[in-house]
Amino acid sequence: MTDPQNASLSENLPDTDICIVGAGMVGSAVACGLANLGYRVTVIDQAAPPAYAPQSPPDIRVSALSYASECFLKDIGAWKHTQAMRSCPYRQLAVWEKLASPLSGAPLQSRLNKTQFDAQQVKLPYLGHIVENNVTQLALHQTMATKSSLQTVFGRRVKLLRVDNEYAVLTLDNGQCVRARLVVGADGAQSRVRELACIGLNSDQYEQQAMVITVSHASPQQEITWQAFTSTGPLAYLPLPAVDGQNYGSLVWYNLPENINKLMQLDDQSLMASIHKEFPSELPALQSIVSKGRFPLVKRHAQQYTTERVVLVGDAAHTINPLAGQGVNLGFKDAAALIAQLSLARASSEDPGKLSLLKKYEAMRRPANSQMMLLMDMFYHTFSNDIAPLKAVRNLGLHFANHAPWAKTKVLKYAIGLN
Ligand SMILES: Cc1cc2nc3c(=O)[nH]c(=O)nc-3n(C[C@H](O)[C@H](O)[C@H](O)COP(=O)(O)OP(=O)(O)OC[C@H]3O[C@@H](n4cnc5c(N)ncnc54)[C@H](O)[C@@H]3O)c2cc1C
Repeated sequence: MTDPQNASLSENLPDTDICIVGAGMVGSAVACGLANLGYRVTVIDQAAPPAYAPQSPPDIRVSALSYASECFLKDIGAWKHTQAMRSCPYRQLAVWEKLASPLSGAPLQSRLNKTQFDAQQVKLPYLGHIVENNVTQLALHQTMATKSSLQTVFGRRVKLLRVDNEYAVLTLDNGQCVRARLVVGADGAQSRVRELACIGLNSDQYEQQAMVITVSHASPQQEITWQAFTSTGPLAYLPLPAVDGQNYGSLVWYNLPENINKLMQLDDQSLMASIHKEFPSELPALQSIVSKGRFPLVKRHAQQYTTERVVLVGDAAHTINPLAGQGVNLGFKDAAALIAQLSLARASSEDPGKLSLLKKYEAMRRPANSQMMLLMDMFYHTFSNDIAPLKAVRNLGLHFANHAPWAKTKVLKYAIGLN
């Protein structure tokens, strides 16, 4: 079973029921859920996450985890570890279009076109939490460490995949092999598992990119996350957890790549001036730029989520425009659906790699993910232009949506994953 080129390097890994490639947020969540069911699980990742540094300012990569994701993380035993590190709840969510006076060009302060959602509408204490991606990942790794049927292999990349009647065999970059009844591809947007399983990909690059800027601010944490649309892309604010009494927030500035290039080249003082000029007045009093980074926006959807003995979850299966912060929330829904299917398989002693079983998972998740991707595209295209009649319609839409409680509750439940 060993790769002949590296045969002398190492022993093979023990056989396992399920091998998960990728110990990011989604792969680690699948691992915890499957180990809870009693499966033997092997998790492989090219790198272990950096240790938690409680004194350091929040990392640049953060996600708005919905209430539904929190419930899922509680179910698999990881949420308490997140809470023991840090996170920031948000109780409100607001969306409007940034408008300018037709005479002076100055930004209008009226927010008649604002739709604001509140946790009270759905009788919840909050809508979700903003959590650094590496905090969520570490919380899941701490949970994994408590599972005796789970082993992790860090610092190794997956190189080859062979599938036969009984097993899938993965070869790692040191020549070690591992034999599993099922391989879960949770290895992110550039998934090697997807490629090795010959699963095609539909992909489309958005015109806009996202620049993420972590800032420190003087005023206390806001409990609201908001997004102001402009024709070149939204401007968003997410509250972050305070560290040692210092308040932080995350700004997301969507714009065309040439404008993001210019913004990325600015020194901190000039970037701060640009933020003050362009961001709405709802911004708290900023103190300094902590870090900045840019992210291309690419919509990807695997043409299938499964083949014999292989299944894809999270970004390996789909990436979505992050404007409504849905990416990892969809990934956690994939994880929950796969765990549920494999729980049934275990109860009836079925082969976890059986294609008919994996197809049931795909039937649950693919349409739901497609629907959310379509909705994000609709938002993106509706707001990314200056066409006057469309502008009037979308602003009227935002105004009336704010005064339609039934519709607002329905939209909110969908956004926080409670549909
Ligand atoms: C700007 C921006 C903002 C976002 N905001 C939000 C938000 O607010 N809310 C939200 O829900 N989502 C958000 N997202 C999306 C979210 O970040 C992703 O959906 C999420 O990180 C995907 O997690 P994952 O575990 O599927 O993949 P990843 O995080 O990519 O993890 C993949 C893992 O696989 C490993 N790996 C890769 N290749 C190999 C290999 N060959 N062998 C072994 N290991 C391998 C990697 O090391 C990594 O650990 C945002 C995305 C962007 C770009």
